[in-house]
Amino acid sequence: MSPQATFDCDLLVIGGGINGAGIARDAAGRGLRVILCEQHDLASHTSSASTKLIHGGLRYLENYEFGLVRKALREREVLLRSAPHIMGPLRFVMPHWHEQRPAWLIRSGLFLYDHLARRVLLPASESLALAKHPSGRGLQARFGRGFAYSDGWVDDARLVVLCAMAAAERGAQVLTRHRVEHLADCGDGWQAGIRAANGTTLRVRARAAVNAAGPWATRLPDVPLPPGRSLRLVKGSHIVVPRLFAHDYAYLFQQPDERVVFAIPYEHDFTLIGTTDVDYAGDPAKVGIDDAEIQYLCDAVNRFAERRLAPSDVVWHYAGVRPLLDDHAASASATTRDYLLEWQPAAPPLIHVLGGKLTTFRQLAEDVVDRLAPRLGNTVGAWTRQAPLPGGDNLLANGPHVRNVLHFGDWVEQQGQRYPWLPAALLHRYARAYGSRLHTLLAHCEGRADLGDAVLPGLHVRELEYLRRHEWARTADDILWRRSKLGLHLPASATATLQDWLDRNRLEGLT
Ligand SMILES: Cc1cc2nc3c(=O)[nH]c(=O)nc-3n(C[C@H](O)[C@H](O)[C@H](O)COP(=O)(O)OP(=O)(O)OC[C@H]3O[C@@H](n4cnc5c(N)ncnc54)[C@H](O)[C@@H]3O)c2cc1C
Repeated sequence: MSPQATFDCDLLVIGGGINGAGIARDAAGRGLRVILCEQHDLASHTSSASTKLIHGGLRYLENYEFGLVRKALREREVLLRSAPHIMGPLRFVMPHWHEQRPAWLIRSGLFLYDHLARRVLLPASESLALAKHPSGRGLQARFGRGFAYSDGWVDDARLVVLCAMAAAERGAQVLTRHRVEHLADCGDGWQAGIRAANGTTLRVRARAAVNAAGPWATRLPDVPLPPGRSLRLVKGSHIVVPRLFAHDYAYLFQQPDERVVFAIPYEHDFTLIGTTDVDYAGDPAKVGIDDAEIQYLCDAVNRFAERRLAPSDVVWHYAGVRPLLDDHAASASATTRDYLLEWQPAAPPLIHVLGGKLTTFRQLAEDVVDRLAPRLGNTVGAWTRQAPLPGGDNLLANGPHVRNVLHFGDWVEQQGQRYPWLPAALLHRYARAYGSRLHTLLAHCEGRADLGDAVLPGLHVRELEYLRRHEWARTADDILWRRSKLGLHLPASATATLQDWLDRNRLEGLT
């Protein structure tokens, strides 16, 4: 882009986390001209640091947040249908011990959880005799009894990228590594001053804007939140350890401080453990786990698992900042996870997005665009409820057999017949990451040689080009830690090797 070029649009979306990307997708699909600006990489902050669950939030029932849980449970089913490649059902087991919440309370909570919203894809909850059930293996023998219920897992960072792709395919301009530095009311809209990471600047004139800057939402220049509205920034951290349990169940472990900690099968070879809730006042870009949190998470698992976990077992960790709507709750964990949309008073249309969850992003985006569109003279109705995300489309339409997330394995098997030369592990990874976009990635490939050199084990030039051309990947971290989690499976030197290759093999036409 040339210095100080000016671009016109209907809607400027500030922030390329799940909320910004979801809003850009919805608005572009209604025919609005959208520009999405993300200061770093897509999903480089909170939206890649979640527990990666599509869930109603069982524990929010204790805070009487029935409306939020119902909304999230409804969305759980909608999302599971929209992108079966990056999501799936997950069965949770809650081991029970007499010193915890009483069994009747848990049973009532699970009954509500089963019935608050229509549930088609996922099975109901049940009581378990853990001594006889496969999920009892690996737990301490004192846990004779437990409860099972269902939720979903999601690849959070890829969910954001798929929303941005969906937006771009409907005409939105997605500008990553572009930071909105100024926002001025220019009478009939907003004028934004934007600086790219390469130093160039540009101006955007937008008829309306959305502040979806997550933890930065209160720090946007020139548009302070209305009085009385604020965010509570709450850090949450996770640790990843070599796989702890020899089965595919996830656990919800109740803790003596009344919090819950999840232990989830992750990337086949690992267990993901989290999370914590710590009030946070620092720079959201610099958030990190501390030793006390690592110890807390190890202790949380050691109360239940047979194998003892020590901080030295941790192979990876990450932390994120929840931008929660401040409801002045007594504790960080009791603060609401619901969202609020706040109009900027007395100015051209601008909506601030406060709070929210990954699970409710689609509904949030629809609510934002439902409010903004009429102010822009747009009368196109909501459309995303039934719409697949990129890569989820052909999966759903590919014959009567492959109809939903529960049949994903069948679909992968069919692709094995179509690409018999592709090693099974690579096919499976491509299918999970790209869904039906696998065919774009493999267009005109007739054999392994067409994938190009392997820059790293299992990472070929063909995929790198796809990620750069279609998914805004620019750096080794974008590729190893957000577009994929290959970083977990490769030695630490992989980042330098890949970055060196990317620097030496620039692609024409990329910003
Ligand atoms: C530990 C933890 C666990 C969680 N687990 C779950 C879960 O299991 N399930 C669930 O549903 N939810 C979960 N959540 C909540 C969920 O992750 C968040 O609600 C969601 O990711 C917030 O998305 P966002 O788009 O608002 O913020 P972000 O993802 O932070 O996106 C905001 C973006 O705005 C950009 N930005 C800021 N200022 C500017 C600017 N001036 N110009 C351009 N760009 C800018 C930032 O770089 C950032 O990328 C969890 C959150 C945490 C922290």
